[in-house]
Amino acid sequence: MTVIQIDKDICTGCQECTKVCPVYAIEGNLHEPQTIVPERCVMCGQCVQKCKSYISPFGRGIELYAKKRQERNLPDTLTEPLFAAYNVSHLDEVIAALQDPSKFTMVQAAPAVRVGIAEEFGLPLGTLAAGKMAAAFRWLGFNKVYDVNFAADLTIMEEGTELVSRVTKKGVLPMFTSCCPAWVKFIENNYPELTKHLSTCKSPQQMFGPVLKTYGAKINGIDPSKVFTVSVMPCTCKEFECSREEMKASGHKDIDVVITTRELAYLIKKYGIDFAQLPNEEFDQPLGEYTGAGTIFGVTGGVMEAAIRTGYKLVTGKELTDVDIHPVRGTDGFRIAEIKAGELVLKVGVVTNLKNIEPVMEKLQAGTLDLHFVEVMTCPEGCVSGGGQPKLLVDSDKPEAYNNRRHVTFEHDKALPKRKSHENPAIVKIYADFLGEPNGEKSHHLLHTSYKGSGGHHH
Ligand code: SF4
Ligand code: SF4
Repeated sequence: MTVIQIDKDICTGCQECTKVCPVYAIEGNLHEPQTIVPERCVMCGQCVQKCKSYISPFGRGIELYAKKRQERNLPDTLTEPLFAAYNVSHLDEVIAALQDPSKFTMVQAAPAVRVGIAEEFGLPLGTLAAGKMAAAFRWLGFNKVYDVNFAADLTIMEEGTELVSRVTKKGVLPMFTSCCPAWVKFIENNYPELTKHLSTCKSPQQMFGPVLKTYGAKINGIDPSKVFTVSVMPCTCKEFECSREEMKASGHKDIDVVITTRELAYLIKKYGIDFAQLPNEEFDQPLGEYTGAGTIFGVTGGVMEAAIRTGYKLVTGKELTDVDIHPVRGTDGFRIAEIKAGELVLKVGVVTNLKNIEPVMEKLQAGTLDLHFVEVMTCPEGCVSGGGQPKLLVDSDKPEAYNNRRHVTFEHDKALPKRKSHENPAIVKIYADFLGEPNGEKSHHLLHTSYKGSGGHHH
């Protein structure tokens, strides 16, 4: 199953998408419609970003356009071009839930959405719009406006604790991040014997789902079966992730629907909301509270940097004073760094763009990848450049957009009062009131998972 499709009626066979696909999953002859090999596709949506063959609702194409719009579950108010490569949308389910008084809707948006969404409304490339986005969610009628960034902080608590435990107790190393579902799919597809290297942590979105349908339902006094959880993601693969069989730790489907940044813009436009004029509003508490460490998850190296900020404390018992970890920043495809934490020299690696993964996998297989912890993101510069972000029709806009989105993410981090996940008061509270300890029994049940090939409880 793949959530990415190429529409044969629209594809001109230009093969531009085949050049960006990191896993060579697109096949076909030049000037003929292309097809995606589902077994190889990791659903990153880079082809969706790249595709320039489209139909518009104006002139002769109107009937075909209306038919395709309906097939793709998009609102009938939509007049934007429909491209050949697209992700299957579930926006109709979100609209239905918002109109259903028996549902209690909770929404959360990923770190990279707040630095991309404003571009859909004519604001400059890489505008930070966290406050306007929160206001838009309230206008749309979501009952609670929470935030994936909170769950990113939660991920760091779990993943940092797991890393320290693997390092001190001689567990499987190097440990790899598991928050990019396209990367997880890639390793499951191609190297199932190496999935033991993945952190057992679920991604922030999938940690948040079960938290919302247990703790979140409880603090709002709502029956969990009435809670409807919506994620807004820069990522086309997240809808696949939320539909994985094992993502029901709460006893319900943990995340009901995922929509992309682009689909959020469709929704805002459908209701005629003037996004640029919205006031800045706050996220709801406590599950909308986040630190700088949570927000840098959206850029390549950010998960690593966030993990170091907390890992240092876990290893040394002391607070890291300079939290800007420059050696892991940047955009090179594979970068390595050594970080001193007391006696320990932590060796870390960051891979961005899955096109750079093969030499890393070869070393891992040969047992010569001498690192403790490696972050992998499938998209060119991490989630800010994700397949679900606003579409950049002019290729030369891409470097500027990615650069600006990254830059404002770090500016946002710097401006936040707290920059380490373990200092987030809502994180401290959820462990005290509900979860117990990081990597404890409850966390294990709700926040961790297993993978194909890992011999765990994968169904
Ligand atoms: S979604 Fe990604 S992996 Fe799948 S065909 Fe498109 S570019 Fe390739
Ligand atoms: S890098 Fe981010 S946007 Fe791209 S596939 Fe991975 S999680 Fe999704």
